[in-house]
Amino acid sequence: MSGCHGKILRVDLNNSSTTVEEVPESKYKQYLGGAGLATRYLWDEVPQGADPLGKENKLIFMTGSLTGALAPSTGRFSVVAKSPQTGIWGQANSGGRWGVDFKNSGYDGLILEGISPKPVYLVIDDNRVELRDASHLWGMNVPETTAAVKEEVGKKYNVACIGPGGENLVRYASIMNDLGRTAGRCGLGAVMGSKKFKAIAARGNSRIQIRQPEEFKTHSKKLYELIDDSMFKMSLQSFGTNVVLDLVSIRGGFPTRNWQSGVFEESDYINGPAISDNILNKNVTCFACPIECGRGTEIKKGKYAGQKGEGPEYETVGTFGGMCAVGNLEAITMAGYLCNDYGIDTISAGSTIAFAMECYEKGILSGKDTGGMDLRFGDADLIVDLVHLIARREGIGDLLAEGTKRMSEKLGRGSEDFAMHVKGLELPAYDSRAVQLTGLTYATANRGGDHITAYVQGPTFIDAPLLIIDESEIKDPFAADPGEVQIATDLEDMLTTFDCIGACKFMGLCISAGDWVELVNRATGWDYSLDGYKQAGERVYNLARAFCNREGLRAEDDTLPKRLLEEPLPEGPAEGHVNELPSLLERYYKLRGWDEQSGKPTAAKLKELDLEDVAKELWS
Ligand code: SF4
Repeated sequence: MSGCHGKILRVDLNNSSTTVEEVPESKYKQYLGGAGLATRYLWDEVPQGADPLGKENKLIFMTGSLTGALAPSTGRFSVVAKSPQTGIWGQANSGGRWGVDFKNSGYDGLILEGISPKPVYLVIDDNRVELRDASHLWGMNVPETTAAVKEEVGKKYNVACIGPGGENLVRYASIMNDLGRTAGRCGLGAVMGSKKFKAIAARGNSRIQIRQPEEFKTHSKKLYELIDDSMFKMSLQSFGTNVVLDLVSIRGGFPTRNWQSGVFEESDYINGPAISDNILNKNVTCFACPIECGRGTEIKKGKYAGQKGEGPEYETVGTFGGMCAVGNLEAITMAGYLCNDYGIDTISAGSTIAFAMECYEKGILSGKDTGGMDLRFGDADLIVDLVHLIARREGIGDLLAEGTKRMSEKLGRGSEDFAMHVKGLELPAYDSRAVQLTGLTYATANRGGDHITAYVQGPTFIDAPLLIIDESEIKDPFAADPGEVQIATDLEDMLTTFDCIGACKFMGLCISAGDWVELVNRATGWDYSLDGYKQAGERVYNLARAFCNREGLRAEDDTLPKRLLEEPLPEGPAEGHVNELPSLLERYYKLRGWDEQSGKPTAAKLKELDLEDVAKELWS
């Protein structure tokens, strides 16, 4: 096979055994690799009703069909499992270069099953696979674990691991790689922790074959030149992902004080230029990516001066900053560093803290609950202190480690109305009342409240079509126009392919779909047409949806928090707007071919996507 090795490693942690399995090329092609292939294994192997933190759940690492190929940003991998945060399909994706080092070990993916009786870590080096005792690593944070593992196995190995967040089963624990890169969402670090599995050290010399190397190289070179000349590269390289803060603020959609407003008066202190001016040391990039959007930073003043790390990314600034009403860049940066070190997702952590602050403001949480802590909006040091408590599950941190949904279910007293999550996943930092289509994609995304399943904000920022879809003109972001719903479904399908092939979704803003199909075909020898390729994305999207349905997801779960539906934004450019879902959802279900009563993909739709066996089980 070209583009991939055609084999995966399976580790049964119950009895420390490993097996190597071949993956038929037809299966690889049907799901494109990465998240698609992993989702197929999840559907086939994790039984309905499995406890996400129990023996039956499986944690699946999968590289894509372009991971490791020298094309723009093709170093990514996906992790898939049933999520302990949402109870449905969980998927997270990460860059850096760990995915490439893992793939160079000779395997396309890894399936972890069962639960180890004691902490272990895995060493993979070409054909050598070894499970080692990790008892001495348990309790270490991410930098400590990475250093200790490298000390034991050699500096050439690259390490993906969990920190105390995963060990302590924080519902939104992440899996970290390359120290500062994160498979962040859906709590897959907690699944890893539940399996007593601490780390994977990988390296190797098993490079993938490219089917048409010269053609691939020529096409790839053309795309690198295109990116080099783009405004897209210039803006992300200059200001990182936080370049979008000002663009979001212009529309009045920067969630502030737990989404009570879309206007944060201190945003100039924490935006992209503020990072460049105050804390940026160097740009950080992922494998083969010319963009260099990562931020290597150092806090230069105040209480946390001297601390170094990566970030903050936009979402970290949005959740710890705007949502918690903190305009102190140094504290936000420190909170982000700590999330990386402990291995917890910054979006869910910052968002849950903001929710707790509003509960405190409204008297639903008191000093008695918080151990005397004053959970007030705007307290910079508080966000840092709370990250420590969450990761260690100490004091009030134990409640916050459960995430917004479970907290609100426990606290009650009306807190459900401003619990900002969809299906249990905390929302990222784009107020959907300022871009109606964003609300639709939050409501329908397979993993819950998520912004990059379909990055519909993109066309509203750059005022130009996203290159990976044909039609992407959003005429008025404040208006709910059913005629624009296809932008969302097209983006969902096309962006799904990025998680399958192992490329960065940001590339959807500057490289066309046709170019991606060309790269995939040249690398693998497949013969995808543009329509066939898009349909592969749709197949994976529907398979993930079917998994969610099998776990009990229904049409009524495709909704938004009450605040977004009923509380108009009180000020700013989006003043007076709420999310208007019904007409958008109706059109969405029609376009998707989903049953409006049950919320399931119809049997006909699944059959059209070559998923007859899934249809049979889902509709039996
Ligand atoms: S655009 Fe940024 S996140 Fe994406 S691959 Fe490049 S450096 Fe990594």
